Amino acid sequence: MKQQHTIEESANRPGGRPAAIDEIHILWISEGMSCDGDTVSVTASSQPSIEDVVNGVIPGLPKVHLHNKVLSPTLGGEHFLAPFRAAARGELEPFIFVVEGSIPNEKINGEGYWTSFGNDPETGEPLTLNWWIDRLAPRAWAVVAIGTCATYGGIHAMAGNPTGCMGLADYLGWDFTSAGGLPIVNVPGCPVQPENFMETLTWVLYHAAGSAPPPPLDEMLRPQWLFGKTVHEGCDRGSYYEQADFAGDYNSPKCQVKIGCWGPVVNCNVPKRGWMSGIGGCPNVGGICIACTMPGFPDKFMPFMDMPPGASLSSALVKPYGAFIRRMRGITNVTANKEPKWHHNRDELTTGYDPRWRPRRTTTRSR
Ligand code: SF4
Ligand code: SF4
Repeated sequence: MKQQHTIEESANRPGGRPAAIDEIHILWISEGMSCDGDTVSVTASSQPSIEDVVNGVIPGLPKVHLHNKVLSPTLGGEHFLAPFRAAARGELEPFIFVVEGSIPNEKINGEGYWTSFGNDPETGEPLTLNWWIDRLAPRAWAVVAIGTCATYGGIHAMAGNPTGCMGLADYLGWDFTSAGGLPIVNVPGCPVQPENFMETLTWVLYHAAGSAPPPPLDEMLRPQWLFGKTVHEGCDRGSYYEQADFAGDYNSPKCQVKIGCWGPVVNCNVPKRGWMSGIGGCPNVGGICIACTMPGFPDKFMPFMDMPPGASLSSALVKPYGAFIRRMRGITNVTANKEPKWHHNRDELTTGYDPRWRPRRTTTRSR
């Protein structure tokens, strides 16, 4: 059964106590079924930026060695693979293992393979992502799944797919615990919101340094402070919903629930946080929420752009109240937009000020 992992519970686990690591590797494999969009997205983070973490600009973090193919200073090939091979042999630690992309089921790959990362030097055969996960995950100080593909399977794990794709926790087990005593840390999003990932990674690094408790996770292993609220609860258009003022097409600033927005039932902070440097955020800027952070994405939210089934009921229920309140607010708004009538430059005072109703002060002087 899935459990929530609070700060207190996590810190009390034997392996969950803060370590005192001063140097750590990040082994980041994006050879899951994916578009590498999460790696690209993370380059947009500014609070903190990946550059600041790697360059040691942030006080209190361990020294970080990042091994990510897009951000690697190596020329690729064996030079890039070397730390991964060393870690698989147990010769490189400690490291955080970041998995990007969904995990295909290589037990049903027929005579081929679904996805690979380097070759076996002896046989020349491709080494599958599953081969790497089997060797690196148990040795990793922490395991982080980035993006909805790695966390819950995502688009590649849709009904009817031939690969049997799944999320990392489906592959390793939802009760998996890393060598550092942490559960898998899931940071979903398609792609991941840049700061959501970097903030989580920074928390894990502070925990590795011994200066922070483990990150609190919900039952789907998401950071609680990032995914505890719905899109609707942070949406700029929420007041339109409350007043039953719904958009009929995509050229409207009003609530988009009737044109396909799933925001009321989706855990995501993007409308609050924005996308890049606080700007953007799906419904805030005209995009319906298609629930890309959710474990049931995409199957449970399709066809996109159709009104969600529950929305017809909720929007019908809110309509009488919303229409009445909107009318009342409209009347008050007209009044509130008028200046008081005593603001004029005539030669009389019409404010209502009347000194007679206030008793005069009498003063007695002692002689
Ligand atoms: S656009 Fe979506 S998230 Fe925003 S208020 Fe409407 S239903 Fe809620
Ligand atoms: S608001 Fe919806 S579509 Fe946008 S990132 Fe969040 S879950 Fe995905």
